Amino acid sequence: MSFECIRQLPTVNEVRGSLPLSSVQVAEKNKREEQLARIISGEDDRLLVVIGPCSADDEDAVVEYATRLAAVQEKVEQALFIVPRVYVAKQRTAGVGYQGLLYQADSAAEPNVAQGIYQARKLYLRIFSETGLTTASELISGISIDYFSDLISYYAVGARSSEDQAYRQIASGIDVPVGIKNPMSGDIRVLLNSIYAAQQPHRFAYDRAEVETQGNPYAHAILRGFSDANWRDDVQSAHPNYHYDDLVAVIEKYKAMESANPMIVIDASHGNSGKLFYEQPRVIRETLANRKRDPQIREYVRGVMIESYLEEGACSAGEYVRGKSITDPCLGWEDTEKLLLYIADNV
Ligand code: PEP
Ligand code: MN
Repeated sequence: MSFECIRQLPTVNEVRGSLPLSSVQVAEKNKREEQLARIISGEDDRLLVVIGPCSADDEDAVVEYATRLAAVQEKVEQALFIVPRVYVAKQRTAGVGYQGLLYQADSAAEPNVAQGIYQARKLYLRIFSETGLTTASELISGISIDYFSDLISYYAVGARSSEDQAYRQIASGIDVPVGIKNPMSGDIRVLLNSIYAAQQPHRFAYDRAEVETQGNPYAHAILRGFSDANWRDDVQSAHPNYHYDDLVAVIEKYKAMESANPMIVIDASHGNSGKLFYEQPRVIRETLANRKRDPQIREYVRGVMIESYLEEGACSAGEYVRGKSITDPCLGWEDTEKLLLYIADNV
């Protein structure tokens, strides 16, 4: 065994106590989540837009980004419900490299998870306090989500985790929506099994306790495209799954499983754009057109995910530009604002 204890982590109470929410904020978050629940259940027909950088690497840049989003949200509040994507833990394709602010608050320094936990909570709290928007996060396992769960309104289970029982179990105990990505292989059965699993009660070990959950009726699907192992080149190996025929096929299977609150979010980035950030608006335009063309697609496809940041593209190795992604390339701010206004007009 080579598990060497570097340091003990703070308790949830210590972390929450040092960066607390006010009672007004607790009420505001509940109100926002009531609206979100109505969107996932289809009672509110606004489109869910989960949008932000691939990784939230820099507190000030991410807060500035969220502040700009909040201004757009005010303009489009009749049509869109915007949830900033604030991902502090990154799962990497080869498992190594930058793993997010939670592990490495300073991307140039040694990992320090204890420090990262405080930094991540501070980031979520600043965004909520300064913009009124609660955020979306990628679901993590191995570290208690309770450090931040009072600040998060939406979780996504990443493509590399959707077949993992630990994630399905954690998702089953969360009382806000959890979007589950299709796995890297694109196997829709895996995705639908995960949604089923997350909607069931579970009993398991979590944060040094044996716990029981009730199941999450708001677990739903995110289509992110998939990877074809037979292609060598990164861009060519990416295949979309947001086209009309893909949606018809997924909906048929989704319908057959009689899930609570069936919903599909289209992730315009990742496999669906071949990681070409500038293709995301095209993916979104086609998604909106499919919704218009087919009432069944409109009934199921009620959300989109977009990777966007202050600056377009991504930093090259060794480069650092404030507000420019250090993981997947993102749409820049100008195009983001244009795209959000376009979605609001065409939803
Ligand atoms: C992401 O959303 O940045 C991400 C890594 O997604 P996926 O799990 O779909 O690869
Ligand atoms: Mn990404």
